[in-house]
Amino acid sequence: MKEPSVYIVSKQDVAHEALAEALKVEGYRVTMAPPGPETLESISTTLPEIAIIDMEGGDNGRLKLCRALKTNEGTRGISLLIASETDVGRSVWEGVNQWADDFLKKPLDHNELFARLRIHLRMHEYHMKLEKLVFFARKIYARDLEGIAQAMREEFTTFVRADRYSVFVAEEDGRKMRLLVHNHGEGEMDHMEVSLESSPIMAEARRSLKPVLETNFSGSSFNTGASREKYSDDFALCVPLYVGEDYLGALNLNGNQAGFFNRLNMDLLALIGEILSAAINNALRLETLRRLAITDGLTGLLNHRSFHERLSSEFERSRRFSTPLTCVMVDIDFFKKINDKHGHQSGDMILSSLATRLKRHLRKIDIVARYGGEEFALLLPQTAARDALVVAERIREDVGASRFETMGGKIKVTISLGIADSAGAGVLSGADLLNRADKAMYKAKKGGRDRSDIFEESV
Ligand code: GH3
Ligand code: MG
Ligand code: MG
Repeated sequence: MKEPSVYIVSKQDVAHEALAEALKVEGYRVTMAPPGPETLESISTTLPEIAIIDMEGGDNGRLKLCRALKTNEGTRGISLLIASETDVGRSVWEGVNQWADDFLKKPLDHNELFARLRIHLRMHEYHMKLEKLVFFARKIYARDLEGIAQAMREEFTTFVRADRYSVFVAEEDGRKMRLLVHNHGEGEMDHMEVSLESSPIMAEARRSLKPVLETNFSGSSFNTGASREKYSDDFALCVPLYVGEDYLGALNLNGNQAGFFNRLNMDLLALIGEILSAAINNALRLETLRRLAITDGLTGLLNHRSFHERLSSEFERSRRFSTPLTCVMVDIDFFKKINDKHGHQSGDMILSSLATRLKRHLRKIDIVARYGGEEFALLLPQTAARDALVVAERIREDVGASRFETMGGKIKVTISLGIADSAGAGVLSGADLLNRADKAMYKAKKGGRDRSDIFEESV
C-alpha cells in the first residue's frame, strides 16, 4: 500500500521540523509549507490523506483555507486537523466546529498525534470507500443481470479487499444457484450451476439469512471435499442476498484473511449485500416483465406483437443472406364447435397442448407464436415452402391422429395449414409473406380442412 501523506501548513520552526522527521520515521510522506496564497492550490495537487493547519499567529486567511478545503469537491475528503495553543481565541473554535475534523493541542505530543493520525487514516479510508460505494450503487442499479455482472467486474475489487469473489443468483425453485460473476481463474467457474446442498456455506447463509464467516475455511465443515484443492484460502464469507422474504442468491468472498476482518470491511459488505440484493431484485423483475410482455399467457409462446417483430427481423435477414424464409399459418378446425361442446376450459387445454406439440416438431431456430385466438404462426428460416410442406404435413398428421386430453374428455382435433415462402416476386415485406400464408390457410379451409396448402399466385 502506498504510504499515507500528511501536509503541514505552518511557519517553519524547530518543533515542526522535528515533527516532520518523526512522521517520516513513522512511514508518512510529509509536505511542510508556510501559509500563503498558493497553499490551497498546493494541497489540491498534493492531495494528502491528512492536512494539519497550525493556527498560531494566524489570521482569517487560515480559516478561509479550512473553509475552502472542506467545501471544494476535490479536497473535501482530506482529514483536516487544526493545531493551536490551548487557550485559543473564539475564531479558532468556530473554525474547529465548522470545518475541522480534529483539534490538536500544542505543544504536540508525538505519540498522541500518531495515534490520532491512525484514527484519521481509518476515517479517511471509510470516507473513500463510502464514495466508491455510492459510485458502485449508481452503476449497479437499474440494470439487467449482465449489467450487474459488468459493474461488479469493473468496481468491486477497487474498494473491497478479497482475493476471490463470486455472485450466485438463485434459480426460481430456490435450490439451484446460477453463477452470475466471479474473479476466479479463467474458465474455473464459467457457466457453473451448483445446488445449495453442495455448498454448505451458501446453504447456511440462506437458512439463517445472515452472513456466514469462516476464518479457517480449508479446515472447516463448510469446505466440501470437492473444493478443498481449489480453495486453500484462509477465510470465506458468504453474504446472503435477499429482499423481504425472497431469497435471491449469495455473494461469496474467499482469500487471505490478513487485514480483512475489520469493522469497516464487514460494514461495507453488509451494505454491498443490500445494494446487490436490491439491484438483482430489480433486474429479475425487469426480466419477468420483459418475458411477460413478449409471451402469450396461456401457451407460453411468443405473442402477436413479438411475432411481428420477429417476422420483420427474419425477413430482413433472409433478404440480406439470400436465404429462403417460410411462414406457416395454423388454424384449428371448427374450434368454435369444440368450445361449444366441451367448454371453453377444454378449449384452452387444447390450445396449450397444441403449442407444446408445435414446438416439438420444430427446430431451435424456428419461431412459433400464438397469432391470435386459435391461430398459430410459424416462421421457418432457411426453409423453402416445399420443405416446409413436409414439416406441416407431419404436424397435421400428428395432431389429427392424437386425442387431446381435456377436462371434457379426450378430444379429436384437426388443423388447417397455409404455407408461403419469401421467394415469390410479389413478396416485398414480412407482411406480404404473412398475407400469403393466411391466404393459403383459407384455401386449405375451403378445400375441406385438415390439410396443408402452399400459396399459389392464382389463389
Ligand atoms: P374454422 O374451421 O373455420 O377455423 O372454424 P372455427 O370455429 O375454428 O373458427 P372461428 O373463427 O369461427 O372461431 C374461432 C373460435 O376460437 C371462436 C372462439 O371462441 C375460439 N377461441 C379464440 N380464442 C380462444 C381461447 O383463448 N380459448 C378458447 N377456449 N377458445 C378460443
Ligand atoms: Mg381462426
Ligand atoms: Mg379455426
